[in-house]
Amino acid sequence: MTKILVVEDEAVLRDTLQYNLARQGYEVITSGDGREGLGLARRVKPDLMVLDLMLPGLDGLEVCRVMRQENNTPILMLTAKTTEVDKIVGLEVGADDYMTKPFSMRELLARVKAMLRRVKLERGGGGDASGSASDGKTRLVFDDLVLDGRRGEVTLAGRPLRLKPKEYELLRFLARNRGAVLSRDLILERVWGWDFAGGSRTVDVHVRWLREKLERDPSSPTRIVTVRGMGYRFEG
Ligand code: CA
Repeated sequence: MTKILVVEDEAVLRDTLQYNLARQGYEVITSGDGREGLGLARRVKPDLMVLDLMLPGLDGLEVCRVMRQENNTPILMLTAKTTEVDKIVGLEVGADDYMTKPFSMRELLARVKAMLRRVKLERGGGGDASGSASDGKTRLVFDDLVLDGRRGEVTLAGRPLRLKPKEYELLRFLARNRGAVLSRDLILERVWGWDFAGGSRTVDVHVRWLREKLERDPSSPTRIVTVRGMGYRFEG
């Protein structure tokens, strides 16, 4: 059974989330405290975490940051703040998606489903009717950079790279379209999904992180190049 951990201190919202997620067939574990939530995450190893930003104990950013050092559990952040800056901060500590309160429960359920589906595809779980499962399993080789879709692993010169789920998806998307100029909007749509709330800055931030991990000199990249006024191109 797919396990979802909800960490939210507003009791009414927490109960609503629990009720609605359980109705979709997920096993739901809840907490109203950041520190306790982190402990639960370590113990129950959820398939996905819905994490509020402002929490007693330990705030959501800190929980997210610690989680990211330990595993790749997809994290959907919830926040009452609306500025672009806060979104980017959330993404920088490793959240995979972001929703601003108030949000519709329907949209949240759709995003949770989409996030779980993407993780499953990338891990080779397949079973999606879109036919993209086999696509996710291919092995792509660019000199010393190897993307192994079956194992969900990327290695550089034989060393496994620790990529966040979104970095991995972005890299696969770029790599599959090697040589083509890809606009930020297209990348956003294909990697984050049509319903993603973040702006195109999100793409820039993730490209920067990938460069730091992949490029010999991240300040003058040769693998993921910027095409001014257009977007990005993966050179291999
Ligand atoms: Ca809160």
